[in-house]
Amino acid sequence: MDPKLRRMASSFVALLLLLEQGMFSSFPPPSGPLDRVFQYIDLHQDEFVQTLKEWVAVESDSVQPVPRFRQELFRMMAMAADKLQRLGAGVDSVDLGSQQLPDGQSLPIPPVILAQLGNDPKKTTVCFYGHLDVQSAQQDDGWLTDPYTLTEVDGKLYGRGATDNKGPVLAWINAVSTFRALEQDLPVNIKFILEGMEEAGSVALEELIRKEKDRFFSSVDYLVISDNLWLSRKKPALTYGTRGNSYFMVEVKCRDQDLHSGTFGGILNEPMADLVALLGSLVDSSGHILIPGIYDQVAPITEEEKKMYEAIDLDLEQYQNSSQVEKFLFDTKEEILMHLWRYPSLSIHGIEGAFDEPGIKTVIPGRVTGKFSIRLVPHMNMSVVEKQVKQHLEDVFSKRNSSNQMAISMVVGVQPWIANINDTQYLAAKRAIRTVFGTEPDMIQDGSSIPIAKIFQDIIQKSVMMLPLGAVDDGEHSQNEKINRWNYIEGSKLFAAFFLEMAKLH
Ligand SMILES: [Zn+2]
Repeated sequence: MDPKLRRMASSFVALLLLLEQGMFSSFPPPSGPLDRVFQYIDLHQDEFVQTLKEWVAVESDSVQPVPRFRQELFRMMAMAADKLQRLGAGVDSVDLGSQQLPDGQSLPIPPVILAQLGNDPKKTTVCFYGHLDVQSAQQDDGWLTDPYTLTEVDGKLYGRGATDNKGPVLAWINAVSTFRALEQDLPVNIKFILEGMEEAGSVALEELIRKEKDRFFSSVDYLVISDNLWLSRKKPALTYGTRGNSYFMVEVKCRDQDLHSGTFGGILNEPMADLVALLGSLVDSSGHILIPGIYDQVAPITEEEKKMYEAIDLDLEQYQNSSQVEKFLFDTKEEILMHLWRYPSLSIHGIEGAFDEPGIKTVIPGRVTGKFSIRLVPHMNMSVVEKQVKQHLEDVFSKRNSSNQMAISMVVGVQPWIANINDTQYLAAKRAIRTVFGTEPDMIQDGSSIPIAKIFQDIIQKSVMMLPLGAVDDGEHSQNEKINRWNYIEGSKLFAAFFLEMAKLH
């Protein structure tokens, strides 16, 4: 090949590689005040990674209620408070008292950090929520590196909490610190709420938010959470909804003790047979929920929404392979996503009191409890769902003419959350994503329940947005959790660009 042609070909390949890695941001170069901000972030990326390394090194495990980990959690919150103070933030570490555990032990709850940078009434105020506690991790669980030593391999930063949620919290702080370092005025007022008990159910947080509604949160205009993942490895996403959940227990009881099938089999209604019939009446083999009226409240789909599903980057084959499921109920990306996000689903989880050991035992369980839950979507109302479920099970049970007793209870309920994607902060985030990544975001929802978004929306009554930074393969909660260096650094730029867009749109 002609050497000139070869050079051209190789630079073309290099460009493709850059695009492949998603490095859209370097081409074309950004203009305006963002120029210096992006340059600064690029030049200081090793420093930013080093801070993440220091934070990951803190074993801030909130899942195991052990004094040693609680101390680590307090140390983590103190480090974060110190970091924010050095940026010039007003920081309040709110004491939440202690937590009574079921075994009688009492453990102190790590403080929640409420911090504020800037208090200009002419500017809009954006509050960032994040958490600094992590799920448990031990190298024996199958980690290839020490989970608490951030280790970089091929641009991936492995470590517990790297993506959930220390990396994204630091990315937000990196964005703020860049404006500070460049002595550029912060485009928006910034607030932080950082907790240390998220992985343990955000103990005492809701109460604090309620208490601070008219104080700390009174000046907050927008809330941003960055605690979930993209749907793709390369394409950024914006999350505007999560499903809720209603968890049910249905108990069928003959008597408190178990019975012997040789002595009683054939002369009474067996609780297990009743329960299997009840559980079997809930959902059919196509995933359709059989409880009358359950779909009546589900929001109808719009044309705009259909288009959003079509545009989403999801490799169905890879998704299917990585989940090791032979076949899903649906064949297209759109149907799969809709059934994960915008339609309810019913799952049967287990039976308490049933014989579940290996081997043979001719027992008739005397009292069994079936457990199932329904993932709720807009605009399902939890108390209506509760009534429908109870009515349905009572109908099925009464047709059986059983002499057993049945009791139904809804034990946990989390409402679904949905945001208005035309809110200013969604528009600003879209523009910032375009600037940094050169692409439109996937507009996604989450099939799981993330109560914090709904709590903020209900109590503070301001727009809530989830702006994730991590890639779909980051492995939050699992072994070898990581965040890509690229996601972490470009994510810091994304937040900086978001501040500027918010100021422009305000
Ligand atoms: Zn998290």
